[in-house]
Amino acid sequence: MTQPATMLSKTPTADAALRARAARVVPGGMWGHLNAARLPEGYPQFFASAEGCRIRDVDGREYIDFMCSWGPVLLGHRHPQVEAAAQAQAARGDCFNGPGEVMVDLAEDFVAMVPHADWAMFQKNGGDATTACVTIARAGTGRRKVLVARGAYHGALPWCSPVVAGITSEDRAHLVHFDYNDVASLQAAAAEAGNDLAAVLVTAFRHDMGRDLELPTAEFAKAARAICDAAGAALIIDEVRAGLRLDLRGSWEALGVRPDLAAWSKAIANGYALAAVTGNDRFREAATKVFVTGSFWCGTVAMAAARATLRIARETDVPGHIHAMGLRLREGLAALANRHGIAVRQSGPPQMPLMLFEADPEVRKGRAFCSAALRHGAFFHPQHNMFLSAAHGPADIDEALQAAEQGFRAVRELDARAAR
Ligand SMILES: *Cc1c(COP(=O)(O)O)cnc(C)c1O
Repeated sequence: MTQPATMLSKTPTADAALRARAARVVPGGMWGHLNAARLPEGYPQFFASAEGCRIRDVDGREYIDFMCSWGPVLLGHRHPQVEAAAQAQAARGDCFNGPGEVMVDLAEDFVAMVPHADWAMFQKNGGDATTACVTIARAGTGRRKVLVARGAYHGALPWCSPVVAGITSEDRAHLVHFDYNDVASLQAAAAEAGNDLAAVLVTAFRHDMGRDLELPTAEFAKAARAICDAAGAALIIDEVRAGLRLDLRGSWEALGVRPDLAAWSKAIANGYALAAVTGNDRFREAATKVFVTGSFWCGTVAMAAARATLRIARETDVPGHIHAMGLRLREGLAALANRHGIAVRQSGPPQMPLMLFEADPEVRKGRAFCSAALRHGAFFHPQHNMFLSAAHGPADIDEALQAAEQGFRAVRELDARAAR
């Protein structure tokens, strides 16, 4: 069979060549949310380098980055002070027979920064931290049931993976579901758990893929706290995605609600692999009893990077800066959408924004927008919340808005074609 001329004449890109090689030696070419089938058309799968708010793919194309490695990059890629701290530690060694001094320093930093925290423990991935929180809550209460919001993401382990292939119903036997921000459904779930309620596990805000983002209402947060207090259960906040971007003290601090346990990861070491559980004294003994560990959990380099990240986040008001940059992006997108007569919905905290198109159930407009913006140098996402970093300045946002302008044009063409 001969190939169509267009395919023959097309020079294979470095990205396409890597995808072809990966397809032979990596199942599906790539796993999970990074599988090529989930990327908008034209999106690169492989990256070569990054600096500040710019990323470069393996074909040398550069983009203003609004995904920040899907959350981990808070201060900008390769932040000089974080890199210096990591390199200084790396020069002494990363992986020993046990932790270094830096683990105690970092636990002290967390206890000083996060009001609910009397102690901290460290892991590698967000899923390690959410799982440890659930284990500690069950150990501390001697109960089994954990209330989780329908559609919420807490990691890709069998008890919480969004995809059921390879998972048994027994893995999730003791989860009871409620709807985020719906006090009545939370109370109903608590009633169903009865005197077997170990914990309420809830993300810092509602950031389910493909739907409008929602901040927690004060009423909902207070109800979650009251249910846990009445039952002697643990309130666990999953800060893995939102942590350090909304409020350095914890995302619910401004609502006046403190958790018993919180799971952190993603941004805490500005791109280095690290997760943390913080907890209060009520759960200190339970955290001592459970057996949690990992071969790489003591790595000193990521902890040194985290200490630098926390210090810079404190000294330079990172949440405030990325809030301002996120607002500038949101207002710019709203003005462009308006000028093109295209209806969009923007939601979420400005630091972690999402833009969805009205009447776009298959995300065709969203994908067309992103593909066109990408060709003009901005890396957006059509369905997942995006991320701002401290390295985004006003000029970067304005440059990205010029790429967004091309995105809106592409959506207009799509609409025009659909109308013909
Ligand atoms: C990403 C994420 C996790 C899982 O973190 P991993 O590092 O991927 O294991 C858990 N909870 C939330 C809210 C997340 O965004």
